[in-house]
Amino acid sequence: MSLAATLATAETADQKPSLAGLDRAALGEALAAIGVPADELRMRVSQLWHWIYFRGARDFFEMTSVSKTLRAALAERYTLVRPEVVAEQVSSDGTRKWLLRVAPENPGEKPHEIETVYIPEADRGTLCVSSQIGCTLTCTFCHTGTQRLVRNLSAAEIVGQVMVARDRLGEWPDAARPQAATLPDGARMISNIVFMGMGEPLYNFDNVKTAIETIADGEGLSIGKRRITVSTSGVVPMIEPLGREAGTMLAVSLHAVRDELREELVPLNKKYPIAELLEACRNYPGVSNAKRITFEYVMLKGVNDTPADAKALVKLLKGIPAKINLIPFNPWPGTQYECSDWETIERFSEIVFTAGYASPVRTPRGRDILAACGQLKSETQKLSARERMALRAMAMTD
Ligand code: SAH
Ligand code: SF4
Repeated sequence: MSLAATLATAETADQKPSLAGLDRAALGEALAAIGVPADELRMRVSQLWHWIYFRGARDFFEMTSVSKTLRAALAERYTLVRPEVVAEQVSSDGTRKWLLRVAPENPGEKPHEIETVYIPEADRGTLCVSSQIGCTLTCTFCHTGTQRLVRNLSAAEIVGQVMVARDRLGEWPDAARPQAATLPDGARMISNIVFMGMGEPLYNFDNVKTAIETIADGEGLSIGKRRITVSTSGVVPMIEPLGREAGTMLAVSLHAVRDELREELVPLNKKYPIAELLEACRNYPGVSNAKRITFEYVMLKGVNDTPADAKALVKLLKGIPAKINLIPFNPWPGTQYECSDWETIERFSEIVFTAGYASPVRTPRGRDILAACGQLKSETQKLSARERMALRAMAMTD
C-alpha cells in the first residue's frame, strides 16, 4: 500500500495520521514528506523504530534521542495513536478481549470495529489478531462467516492490535504490569501471535506479510517468526508463498476428513479439496519435525466426531510433520451446531494421542466473554431476526 493510502486509512475526519504500525519503508516516506533529507532517512527511521516499537512511545516528545526540531515537526503532522479501544473485557482466567475501532472504508462513513483476544497460559501469552473486517468465506460453524467482508485490514492496523495489547498489558520497558498479570515475572506477556481472529489472512497476504515483518523485527516488537502462526481455511496457492516470503508457522483449518463433509463446513474446499491442501502442506517451505504444521479440527457433535473420523484423520496426516489441535466448538447465537460431548472429545483425543500426536485439547477459555478465536464478530452489529429467535429460545431453556 502506498503511504498516501496507508495514511488515508489511518486518518479520520480532521485527525492527523498516525505512524504507529507503519513499516520501515512507510516511516521513511512519512519522514521524507516532512523534509528529512534522503541521506538521513535510514538513521531517522531507526531512531523512530526504537521509540515506536521497542519503547512503545505514544508521544513524539518522549523521543529524547531525536532532535527537538524534528520532534516538533513530527508532532505537527503526525500522531502515534493506536486503533481506539472501544471496550475491554477481562475474563476470570485472564483472557482479554478488546473491541477496537478502525477507520471506515470511505471517509465520512461509520468506523468499523475489530476484535483482538489475549489468552494467557502458564508458559506463554498468545495474542489472537484479526486480518480482515469480516470474511468472504462462509464456513458454516464460524460466527465471522455470517458477516460479509467489509475490507482488508492494513498492515498498520494489524500491528496496531499488538501495540494496543502491549499498552493494555503494560508490556513496554518503562511500563508497569497490571496487577492481574498471570505470567511469571520476566516471562513475556505476549510471546506468541496467532492469525486466528476475524478474516482469512491469506486473502490479505501482502498486508499480513508486511505486518509480520514489523512484528518479528528484532529491534522492535521482536516476536520471532517461529512464534507467529498464520491460520488458513485452505487457500492453497498462497501456502507456499507464506512459507517462502513470511516464514511463519502454518495452521490449517481441516475440520473434516472427507471432501463431501469439508465442502459443507468449509465451502472453500470445493475450490481446493483435501488432497491438494495436504499436498501444499507437505511442500510447505521449512516444514520439519521441529517446525510442524498445526491442523485445527473443530469438534462438532454428531458431525465430524466419531472414532472412525479420528482414525481417518490420523491416516490422512501420515507423513506430514503435524500437530493436531482439537477445538471444542464454541457456540454462538443462531448456530446450527453443538459442541461434541466431553467424553466424545476425550475418545477422539485418545485415538489421536495413541497415534503419536500430542493433542492438547484447546480448553474453551474465555467462553464467558465470547472470545474464543474464530468466534469474532462485532457485538455492536445488529442482531438478525434469526439470532434474536435463537436467543429467545436459549433464554427459555436456560
Ligand atoms: N480464517 C482463518 C483464521 C481465522 S479462524 C481460518 O479459518 O483458519 C481461526 C480458527 O477458529 C479456525 O480454525 C476456525 O475454523 C476456528 N473456528 C471458527 N469458528 C469457530 C467456533 N465457533 N468454534 C471453534 N472454532 C472455530
Ligand atoms: Fe472466514 Fe476462517 Fe471463519 Fe472460515 S473459519 S468464515 S475462513 S474466519
